[in-house]
Amino acid sequence: MSKFSKNFQKVTYVKHWTENLFSFRITRPKSFKFRSGEFVMIGLIDNYNKPILRAYSICSPSWSDELEFYSIIVKNGPLTSKLKNIKIGDKIIMMPKSTGTLVLDALKPGKRLFLISSGTGFAPFAALIREPETYERFENIIVTHTCRLMTELSYSQNIIQECKKNELIKEFIDDKLLSYHSTTRDDYFFNGRITELILSNKLFNDLEINSISTDDRFMFCGSMGLNNDLKKIMEKNNFCEGSNNYPGEFVLEKAFVG
Ligand SMILES: Cc1cc2nc3c(=O)[nH]c(=O)nc-3n(C[C@H](O)[C@H](O)[C@H](O)COP(=O)(O)OP(=O)(O)OC[C@H]3O[C@@H](n4cnc5c(N)ncnc54)[C@H](O)[C@@H]3O)c2cc1C
Repeated sequence: MSKFSKNFQKVTYVKHWTENLFSFRITRPKSFKFRSGEFVMIGLIDNYNKPILRAYSICSPSWSDELEFYSIIVKNGPLTSKLKNIKIGDKIIMMPKSTGTLVLDALKPGKRLFLISSGTGFAPFAALIREPETYERFENIIVTHTCRLMTELSYSQNIIQECKKNELIKEFIDDKLLSYHSTTRDDYFFNGRITELILSNKLFNDLEINSISTDDRFMFCGSMGLNNDLKKIMEKNNFCEGSNNYPGEFVLEKAFVG
């Protein structure tokens, strides 16, 4: 028996969105507490009885009974080339402690909260836009998701639509949640990298909202390149990076290492 068997959780739902993207849910142990926006180590046992563990943002809000994850499939990736085959009833390892900086506590109070993501970087924001406290702390939430292809936006579009209809949170959301999707390769309503759309003011013009002001707060989650470029925009606006101990005007997390 594996020493990880006490950390096994059961798969309750799997949905493939594209050839390379899928989401799944697992049971939530009663003892597992987390803050919306955090990540946790999950994985599988390999053919040599060794665990393959990777960081995954939890897409579910803190109040959820189950835990949802949104995953890439990396060709020959040690974990995801196996994880892509999971089905309901299978067991997945989930380590007992979550962590992360994309949490409300790491931001100073503000008026608007921008949640900017690319690829699977939308995952932590799937949790935060379904967290009532997000709407208690901020007057408006603007969530953006950028992918290469239109089909890669399906998961985030679905989560946003569902969350606006959800009986438990729709009263908190009211008309506070705005969303913006863009693609960098396909021809879509909105095209281009989010950094360019911010710098050119197109994002703000398209949404018919004011451009960046001092009481805006930002969270971002994407590739290293995207995070670095967004950080430069933050610093140009004299915003400081926050952490759990020292809240700031913006926080970021890498969507993957590499
Ligand atoms: C804080 C944190 C949170 C993360 N949350 C998620 C998540 O919610 N969903 C998710 O799918 N992945 C997430 N990742 C990445 C995840 O940990 C794994 O890297 C991924 O599941 C691939 O595992 P692998 O063993 O198959 O390949 P790995 O050996 O881990 O990765 C191989 C290469 O694939 C590329 N890659 C890995 N992950 C991604 C990705 N998500 N998007 C684009 N390219 C990628 C990188 O170039 C990487 O070097 C997160 C990573 C970090 C650090």
